Amino acid sequence: MTSPWDMPDFDDHEALHLMRDAESGLSAIIAIHSTHLGPAGGGTRFWHYADSEAAITDALRLSRGMSYKNAMAGLAMGGGKAVILSDAKGMKSPEMISAFARAIDSLGGRYVTAQDVGMSAADMVAISQGTRYVSGLPPKDGGAGGDPGPTTAMGVFLGVKAAVRRALGKDDLAGVHIAIQGVGSVGGGVARHAAAVGARITLADKNGDHATALATEIGAQIVSTDEIMSVEADVFCPCALGAILTEHSISKLRAAVVAGGANNQLATPADGDRLQSRGILYAPDYVINAGGIINVALEYLDGADRATVDAKVLQIPDRLNAVWDGSEASGQNPARVADAMAQRLIGRG
Ligand code: NAD
Repeated sequence: MTSPWDMPDFDDHEALHLMRDAESGLSAIIAIHSTHLGPAGGGTRFWHYADSEAAITDALRLSRGMSYKNAMAGLAMGGGKAVILSDAKGMKSPEMISAFARAIDSLGGRYVTAQDVGMSAADMVAISQGTRYVSGLPPKDGGAGGDPGPTTAMGVFLGVKAAVRRALGKDDLAGVHIAIQGVGSVGGGVARHAAAVGARITLADKNGDHATALATEIGAQIVSTDEIMSVEADVFCPCALGAILTEHSISKLRAAVVAGGANNQLATPADGDRLQSRGILYAPDYVINAGGIINVALEYLDGADRATVDAKVLQIPDRLNAVWDGSEASGQNPARVADAMAQRLIGRG
């Protein structure tokens, strides 16, 4: 196995903790990329990995991503991420969650967890029994927190509007055609917001019932999951999987804008260049999809109310415009510009 320091994703992480609790069977990794702006915030993923190197790589990559996302959202939070290594059957016990809470607590607040793939809101409540360094708890009356999906969807909707204004010179979404890949928590929310202001929606979801129900509700057209990326539309809005923007798929896109909520949309950094050379305006994923982290971070840092969260989410279009301005000025694609801006914000530029 490659030494963690030599892994390409190590990227000067401040710390990489390998935690084990023999009694409960917990094996977990907590990666802390940066605490320059505040405690390292980022969710916990419960996942079955091929081997421990794959788990460490995932933790490092996700943790750096959180540093960039939190910085670009203007949050007083650094970036970190935890992974709990699941067995093939995905067995998760209360004892394991308690041991994980103790592991987080032992870091004294340098890492603050939240929900990610494989973890539930109930797991966050269970973790809160053993440590206060956790966010994404059920909101108190009018407070921040709870399910991040609707807040992420609102931020993405605002980002799509900003991209349409920038690329097409249109001030509203009336008649604008948006092709949405994946209509779960985030994509479904974007579809409803956009349909409500007169956008024309084409959608695809691997869950056919899901797609049909939403299409009927908002009057959208459905296409297959194979077709959605090549629909002739104004905006392609990826809200399902990561790494969907590849040399092959980019050559098939027929949209002027790519703006959506999925994490890690570019398969490689070169794919950002490919979008740019095709004249497609790209909204960097971690800038446009920051609504959810804004919701949970403000819950943790300030115990903020909904109005404070909403005000911060309203700033997402300004941040995107700053990235696009930087891209125009430098000739670099927006993804590279966002990375450079984030690195400067965390004191590494
Ligand atoms: P979700 O599970 O609620 O919805 C995802 C949807 O995508 C599901 O309906 C699923 O059936 C569909 N899907 C999966 N594979 C597909 C495919 N190949 N083609 C078409 N549809 C497919 O998840 P979500 O919370 O809406 O998150 C969507 C994306 O946004 C993920 O990449 C997630 O990491 C990212 N994200 C979510 C949040 C949040 O607050 N929920 C925040 C930031 C980023």
